[in-house]
Amino acid sequence: MNADFNGLYYVQFVSKSSKLIMKVDRIVYTARTKYQFVELVEFEEFGLSLILDGLVQSTVADEHIYHEALVHPAMVAHPNPRSVLIIGGGEGATLREVLKHPSVEKAVMVDIDGELVEIAKRYLEPMHRGSFNDPRSEVVIMDGKEYIRKTDRVFDVVILDLTDPYSSEIARDLYSEPFYRELKKILSQNGIVVTQAGCSFYFEDAYDLALNSLKSTFRIVREYGNWVPSFGYLINYIVASDTLDPAAMDPERIDRLLRERRVETRYYSGDVHQSLFKTPALRNTYVKGKK
Ligand code: SAM
Repeated sequence: MNADFNGLYYVQFVSKSSKLIMKVDRIVYTARTKYQFVELVEFEEFGLSLILDGLVQSTVADEHIYHEALVHPAMVAHPNPRSVLIIGGGEGATLREVLKHPSVEKAVMVDIDGELVEIAKRYLEPMHRGSFNDPRSEVVIMDGKEYIRKTDRVFDVVILDLTDPYSSEIARDLYSEPFYRELKKILSQNGIVVTQAGCSFYFEDAYDLALNSLKSTFRIVREYGNWVPSFGYLINYIVASDTLDPAAMDPERIDRLLRERRVETRYYSGDVHQSLFKTPALRNTYVKGKK
């Protein structure tokens, strides 16, 4: 296809040597916060989008594919999720999905970057949809590492919706065994944790660090993934618990739970749940120069 390069294009690094080129309609806002470079851009094909340090985080066109896949498998696996902790999730879409579950009494979102959260509140209503104002929501501006050491709360579900371990270093420690061991101390008896885990095909080492760290900390660890067009790759998630196994849930049970809980989704369903867990973590086996 001979792309017409008239106009403005955003070049997003998908990996160290591959890029995704996306046509820009409008640059809405840019700022350098204490922690990251924030760009709000309207792409021709994806609409309003949040970009942090050059990596697309969420776009109006496909963020639901990511956020529903991140949140609902762990939430439906827990029989009665009442207290939920989100670490990261700055734009408020993860919070939005968590609050769809009527059993949730408290959803605490801990993000290191208060400036970003204020930008999200102001410009990203299509993503947070007022979730910050829900009486069950509590937003804490703090490093997630520090929060889990300081809090005396216990959580049924923990959702790690962080920037990638291979982007800026602010999230890197939150993909490690010491962090997961600390996290386990604030997880309830029947608790479950899920993390976005970047892309195993392009960043295998970072993925394996998170995977092996979770395997050393929890009894049941399940990998799943889906393709998010604006990321330009298949994104991986890892879910872990000592007692709950989302991969063992059949589609009919998932659909029944979504109906009983009156959880409306655009993408996620029992069949999608099953396909998520049947999607293996892709690895790049190509070795340059080897036949
Ligand atoms: N939905 C996006 C995606 O594609 O994965 C990512 C969600 S969100 C934009 C990532 C968030 O992680 C950002 O708001 C960033 O401020 C936050 N973050 C990074 N490091 C953190 C840390 N150590 N503690 C808390 N939040 C952190």
